[in-house]
Amino acid sequence: MDPKYEAVIGLEVHAQLLTDTKIFCGCSTKFGSAPNTNVCPVCLGHPGVLPVLNKKVVEFAVLMGLATNCTINKKSIFARKHYFYPDLPKNYQISQYEEPICEHGYITIELKDGTKKKIGITRIHMEEDAGKSIHDQGFDTLIDLNRTGTPLLEIVSEPDIRSPEEAYLYLAKLKQILTYLNICDGNMEEGSLRCDANISVRLKGETKFGTKTEVKNMNSFRNVERALAFEIERQIDLLEDGKEVIQQTLLWDADANIAYPMRSKEEAHDYRYFPEPDLMPVIVTEEWKNEILKLMPELPDSRKERFINQYNLPAYDAEILTSSRELADYYEKILTVTKDYKSASNWVMTEVLKVINDEKITINEFPVSPENLGKLIELINRNIISGKIAKDVFPEMLKTNKDPEEIVKEKNLVQITDTTEIEKVIEKILSQNQKQVEEYLSGKDKVWAFFVGQIMRETKGKANPQIVNELLKSKLEAIKNKSL
Ligand code: ADP
Ligand code: ZN
Ligand code: MG
Repeated sequence: MDPKYEAVIGLEVHAQLLTDTKIFCGCSTKFGSAPNTNVCPVCLGHPGVLPVLNKKVVEFAVLMGLATNCTINKKSIFARKHYFYPDLPKNYQISQYEEPICEHGYITIELKDGTKKKIGITRIHMEEDAGKSIHDQGFDTLIDLNRTGTPLLEIVSEPDIRSPEEAYLYLAKLKQILTYLNICDGNMEEGSLRCDANISVRLKGETKFGTKTEVKNMNSFRNVERALAFEIERQIDLLEDGKEVIQQTLLWDADANIAYPMRSKEEAHDYRYFPEPDLMPVIVTEEWKNEILKLMPELPDSRKERFINQYNLPAYDAEILTSSRELADYYEKILTVTKDYKSASNWVMTEVLKVINDEKITINEFPVSPENLGKLIELINRNIISGKIAKDVFPEMLKTNKDPEEIVKEKNLVQITDTTEIEKVIEKILSQNQKQVEEYLSGKDKVWAFFVGQIMRETKGKANPQIVNELLKSKLEAIKNKSL
């Protein structure tokens, strides 16, 4: 990107809420049902029906607002947003406009160089989703209204974002908060988290914003980054050629790697908003807000800080362990069995996450219980098995999720700590390898590793390494003294 310019980006994010039923009727929100089966006269927009607000939706909105440092408006109102589209049977969407439920918040992102940056949140409002138009089934267009009336939060950012990377970090943080709150599954690929990006560019030092465009239809974090990079370059090229940026909506085509303008007919936005006459204003009293506050879990940023302070973990570990609420929970359950915080962190960050990534499963599907992993760590720390043997026990736990103590007993893996037994093995190895002993005595330290290897082989890896080292050292010293 031309360093003369800077990008200005604001994101509008739609999050589908994890309620059991829709926002204004009792229909199920279950994903994947047969088309047009989760519908009723209300969400089909029949004349004469009345919407009834789902209380859960308000609770989720307030939770998100509190988690993103917003003011929760005591009174907010629903409004009708009119447009015609085949998957919107009422020809208006019930949304919030002039008086949204949450305003003036921010979230904090951490840039690559470690600096923190606040991104303002203009507003968060509640609204209903439209249905789905399906174009790829060999007919012109099919309509599925199961999604109609699914509750959404629209989260609108201030134009505080300055690069595609910052947009990525902002989205990732929003997703992390939404999933910690357990109010949205955050899946962009499946459309439960959607992002429209507003983009303009300006010369650095300029205080006025340039003309913005809006890019839609990006269904992954990577696509958002790529689409933004594309659009920033396109706008800079226009300005460099002395042309103007036209305010318009563009659609991202991930396969072609370009954003192209939508038909201009859909550009003329006049939604004729007016207050929804069939719904009362939403009143969030202090009491209700405080009740909702009780549902607030520890949020990712503070949990990370606590992990650093309470468990003495490096920031790097804490960041990974708190990346999801479930992973952080898993880690803390290990700590009910062992207080070796750093070992527990190492096991999760290497062995556990490796399996999860390889098998493409979630931590909830991970076969080894945190308690059993804690026991394994304790077996090492109590010198019952070596760290090396533990790496053999772990795959067995993956297969069976048996108690590691049981596996160690069954497979006879208990570490040999009996000094006389180890001494015997050492004597045997030394007498079988006279040549190497000579070499050692003449100063070739490297054969040390050879002896240890032989001893471990003889004991099938079960000899306690520390005892082996100590005894081997004193044996060789003794031989050396004798030969002097
Ligand atoms: P509109 O009326 O076109 O919907 P809004 O003022 O509601 O525009 O803003 C929509 C989004 O666009 C917000 O996220 C806002 O931060 C962002 N935005 C507003 N102006 C600009 C600009 N000049 N460049 C980039 N983003 C902008
Ligand atoms: Zn319904
Ligand atoms: Mg707007």
